[in-house]
Amino acid sequence: MRILLAEDDPSIADGICASLRRGGHAVDHVANGNLADAALRDHGYDLLVLDLGLPGLDGSEVLRRLRGRGAGMPVLVVTARDGLPERVRVLDLGADDYLVKPFALSEFEARVRALLRRISSQGVPELQLGRLRLDLPGHRAWIDDSTLELTAREFGLLEALALRADRVTSRTQLIEALCDWDQELTDNGLDIAIHRLRRKLQGSGTGVRTIRGLGYLLEETVHSGDAHP
Ligand code: CA
Repeated sequence: MRILLAEDDPSIADGICASLRRGGHAVDHVANGNLADAALRDHGYDLLVLDLGLPGLDGSEVLRRLRGRGAGMPVLVVTARDGLPERVRVLDLGADDYLVKPFALSEFEARVRALLRRISSQGVPELQLGRLRLDLPGHRAWIDDSTLELTAREFGLLEALALRADRVTSRTQLIEALCDWDQELTDNGLDIAIHRLRRKLQGSGTGVRTIRGLGYLLEETVHSGDAHP
């Protein structure tokens, strides 16, 4: 999943970025409300983690504008401002959840998982394609009952393809899903990830087909026991 983090405290931002990336997510980080507003207009995100006390545009204003544009992505507010009136105000502005600093990273991670579970395939946390099964929030995959060992990038690739299983996914869409501003994914890097994923899917009855000039399609292969080369 691709996540935008708007947080101006460098140590908190570093901790959150590291935690989300360990979880296999692509994270873009901004430390200013105006940059957050611009990033939300320019890119598609699956989740916004929003500090309220931001330089430039206040976090509340970023959230108000986001909801004003009709964007329904989940928003987790993290803030030092506490108190019942503040919580009610922020939830009324359109936040989905609220975490008061300081918080334990384990609780932050659990809340992110809960919010992403809600949006993964319209609330269905598991996807099944033939004998392949994916637990999206848990980042796990199985062929029948055997675990498929995937790196975070391979899982992200499989997830991006599986969420659009009946449609072709372009290389640009895959790179958007897998990459944040701090990480480069070259064409060559994407080819390598696809190659590795195909090898791991061999024998699963599901393969990644190249649609020349358009992109890739995750589909059940005719003969289980082989995958598309
Ligand atoms: Ca702040």
